[in-house]
Amino acid sequence: MTTARTRDDWQRQADALTFQGQAFIDGRYVDAASGARYDCISPIDGRVLVQVADADMADVDRAVAAARRSFDAGHWSRAAPSHRKQVLLRLADLVEQHADELALLETLDMGKPVRDARQGDLAGVLRCLRWTAEAVDKVYGEVAPTALDTLGLITREPVGVVAVIVPWNFPLLMASWKIAPALAAGNSVVLKPSERSPLSAIRLAALVAEAGVPDGVFNVLPGHGERTGEPLALHMDVDALAFTGSTAVGRRLLQCAGKSNLKRTWLECGGKSPNLVFADAPDLDKAAQAAATAIFYNQGEVCTAGSRLLVQRSIKDAFVARVLAHGRHMQPQHPFEPDAAMGALVDEAHAGRVLDYVARGEADGARLLLGGKRLEVVPGGSYVEPTVFDEVDPQHTIAREEIFGPVLSVLTFDHEDDALRMANDSIYGLAAGVWTRDLGRAHRVARGLRAGSVWVNQWDGGDMTAPFGGYKQSGIGRDKSLHAFDKYTELKATWIHLGG
Ligand code: NAD
Repeated sequence: MTTARTRDDWQRQADALTFQGQAFIDGRYVDAASGARYDCISPIDGRVLVQVADADMADVDRAVAAARRSFDAGHWSRAAPSHRKQVLLRLADLVEQHADELALLETLDMGKPVRDARQGDLAGVLRCLRWTAEAVDKVYGEVAPTALDTLGLITREPVGVVAVIVPWNFPLLMASWKIAPALAAGNSVVLKPSERSPLSAIRLAALVAEAGVPDGVFNVLPGHGERTGEPLALHMDVDALAFTGSTAVGRRLLQCAGKSNLKRTWLECGGKSPNLVFADAPDLDKAAQAAATAIFYNQGEVCTAGSRLLVQRSIKDAFVARVLAHGRHMQPQHPFEPDAAMGALVDEAHAGRVLDYVARGEADGARLLLGGKRLEVVPGGSYVEPTVFDEVDPQHTIAREEIFGPVLSVLTFDHEDDALRMANDSIYGLAAGVWTRDLGRAHRVARGLRAGSVWVNQWDGGDMTAPFGGYKQSGIGRDKSLHAFDKYTELKATWIHLGG
């Protein structure tokens, strides 16, 4: 694990990088058929890193055709699970060898601290690849409880061509949660990274090929949502679509499935996660530190960000003072600084959107206690202060909409029932936290929360053994754990008459 590197060390490594901006189709890097490209801009300083292929319908057709050919050829789809496991373990080793480079690509592309990219994102990618590879030759089918004259086999088969569309906040990690189980199960994949963070996915393609995944099984199409993503979602020869991104786009993708071939469509969407702190929390300072990290880690650009802090009235002022103390220490810095708690937001447009929400919070009458302004950490970069609003009403826009930035809304409750009602008063249901030393309350509240993940006396628990996904408009389906295979396999029932 990397720890003691200085900003200059990372800068030297970054200066030595070369960027690949082409698409990867059928085992080769290629330009978009139209020749179109767009500027890939770093939010650290507004610099153009490289021009990236802007794929369109023609490229989607090429990539899907290559994926279909490879799937039908069977070199991967019909290979023994133990073979696919070995190849994916080799891929994990290659990713580990290139982890610094991949972490730098994430940071340059979307602005997060490089320490977090290396120790958070890349470490997570490695765990995901290795866990999933190790799982694939341990997943069994079933034998149905039939009468003696029948044998009923229930087996899993790869679904076919899987399109994967991912966002920019954890570019490679979100991709790996999908491509690892999709590839492990024997599918062919077309990955569309976000137009704001394509570089790590493009680089990964070469490592996938080097690991021994056959041509056509893994393709990467950089490009924009409507230009590249939508033709994939509408494609008649894509069997399944696995998406992580906003609820608005998720809704549109379900319509695309309905308009085309009813492709299985799995969605990991937005959140507005509540973090409930009761007066009997076991360690209020730990809870306050976690509340600050829950909203400021990754600049608040986290689907599970603890963006609604619900605090019991009797401790509210004292607790919020502690959150502010921790938040003040999380100012954005250049993302190569080894102790940067926050880096840059993904781009100027997003920084502007976050600041619009700050203005809206003030206009609605919430009380701004911390931050709320842009910072010029590096000229040309997109940096916003850690921001805390108190006295937020549950009906305020900043309490209801996903801001996806470093903006915390503090709400106050009196009783357990109020806390649960406020927590569940959202179209989202991705994650929630509960802080209490009362075991009965912890279980009661955890049961009552309509969320896919509930964390008690911690924030952001779980590992590869636990499924991850949302209730309500936060999504459909689960990433991680053995449940992830449900998205990438069809269940077949084979009924054999034995005679006699
Ligand atoms: P986004 O929905 O704007 O874009 C996500 C991806 O969809 C990108 O690759 C984009 O190019 C593509 N896309 C956009 N329009 C499309 C269209 N019409 N057809 C097909 N593809 C299209 O989201 P974003 O801004 O990249 O990411 C932020 C969102 O992602 C937040 O809402 C966040 O909560 C969510 N997210 C969810 C999870 C989760 O696991 N639930 C994890 C990370 C991020």
